[in-house]
Amino acid sequence: MAAKKMFGAVDASVLVTDLRRSFDDGVTRGYEWRVTQLKQLLIICDNHEPEIVAALRDDLGKPELESSVYEVSLLRNSIKLALKQLKNWMAPEKAKTSLTTFPASAEIVSEPLGVVLVISAWNYPFLLSIDPVIGAISAGNAVVLKPSELAPASSALLAKLMEQYLDSSAVRVVEGAVTETTALLEQKWDKIFYTGSSKIGRVIMAAAAKHLTPVVLELGGKSPVVVDSDTDLKVTVRRIIVGKWGCNNGQACVSPDYILTTKEYAPKVIDAMKKELETFYGKNPMESKDMSRIVNSTHFDRLSKLLDEKEVSDKIVYGGEKDRENLKIAPTILLDVPLDSLIMSEEIFGPLLPILTLNNLEECFDVIRSRPKPLAAYLFTHNKKLKERFATTVSAGGIVVNDIAVHLALHTLPFGGVGESGMGAYHGKFSFDAFSHKKAVLYRSLFGDSAVRYPPYSRGKLRL
Ligand code: NAD
Repeated sequence: MAAKKMFGAVDASVLVTDLRRSFDDGVTRGYEWRVTQLKQLLIICDNHEPEIVAALRDDLGKPELESSVYEVSLLRNSIKLALKQLKNWMAPEKAKTSLTTFPASAEIVSEPLGVVLVISAWNYPFLLSIDPVIGAISAGNAVVLKPSELAPASSALLAKLMEQYLDSSAVRVVEGAVTETTALLEQKWDKIFYTGSSKIGRVIMAAAAKHLTPVVLELGGKSPVVVDSDTDLKVTVRRIIVGKWGCNNGQACVSPDYILTTKEYAPKVIDAMKKELETFYGKNPMESKDMSRIVNSTHFDRLSKLLDEKEVSDKIVYGGEKDRENLKIAPTILLDVPLDSLIMSEEIFGPLLPILTLNNLEECFDVIRSRPKPLAAYLFTHNKKLKERFATTVSAGGIVVNDIAVHLALHTLPFGGVGESGMGAYHGKFSFDAFSHKKAVLYRSLFGDSAVRYPPYSRGKLRL
């Protein structure tokens, strides 16, 4: 088999020039082109689901139901919404005028930005690649997608299907890792939409700054879950478990990173979690087919290092088993690991779940406030006042009360981070807006011209 040709800065430059020509020729601007491309994306979802599921099984050992629901179905919903709403989204929005501009009319026009770059992550390789592309196409841009090299089967399938179904004069996929992404980042883009770690987010932003390119950074962080004793414990732990181990085995950006509860309530939470974990995954969860595996040995070793710190491994209250050959780590619960341990300093992004205990819930909220702003923060309680206090005093990309991660399925809510967890947002109309320039357009009349604004200036004119 012939070796794949390297993709370098010259190829990246040629690619951007080609796409810019298409954009400048107006290929992507029209409603019909946008609709056609979106319909083609829908065909990919409808006709190729088994291949998508198989690629996700190869890359992550992802269970079929997880792949169908969290990748393909979410994408279908996203595309259908864009198809239904596109005319409304594209329509200029009337703006009020004032006495200063009278007589005039004004509107806000959503203008495509031009040629945009989408760089995506490996954990939900289809959703995180195609969902931003839906926004880019809906808004009338030419787009290059760079999927993650850490999910190679998904990356290859994305490249194949997008080349087969989409207009290659304006939509392209570049596969590759750091070298290829660096070559792409040297080019001038009109927007860069990046999903990945905060560490690489800084690399992306620095590269974008050279060309004054705006960015959306969809990053991660340590998303906390606060559990109040005034809750339905069974429902609470079932939702936490499925939000942690049932979503790519903790390798999800909105996955619960750690739990905060009171000293008195923690034993009850742990007992309930053990019971429900066994109900879901059996006595030997390492054998369960309903959980993804760790993506690769690098991430397996990273997670092992978090777990192997002496003051951390002593705190395991459930799980802890590891199998490097099969890239599996059991669902693992830890109680009261030190706040300055590695596991409490880095985003875990895997099946380990520390529980921290404090004297009361206000102290739990303080722990969250004292740390970098997370992508999501969760609270389980019946207490109305507590819900309100959490929503108003805790800062996070998004907040969910009494569930995990479901906010990302609601297209009426923006999805994105704040502070360390990112900037900008997407989903639904927010995706369209992320890839549009809101152009102010004012139509003035040539009638009713006033002398006040013209020199020679005089107080007398003001009294006219
Ligand atoms: P990553 O930052 O390692 O890689 C993401 C992308 O960046 C990949 O396409 C990769 O090829 C590219 N990349 C890696 N190193 C690079 C470099 N030096 N220069 C240029 N490009 C480079 O992230 P990841 O491991 O793929 O994903 C995990 C992280 O992403 C976690 O922090 C997670 O929370 C976050 N994440 C966020 C969201 C979200 O929607 N906010 C979704 C999924 C994952």
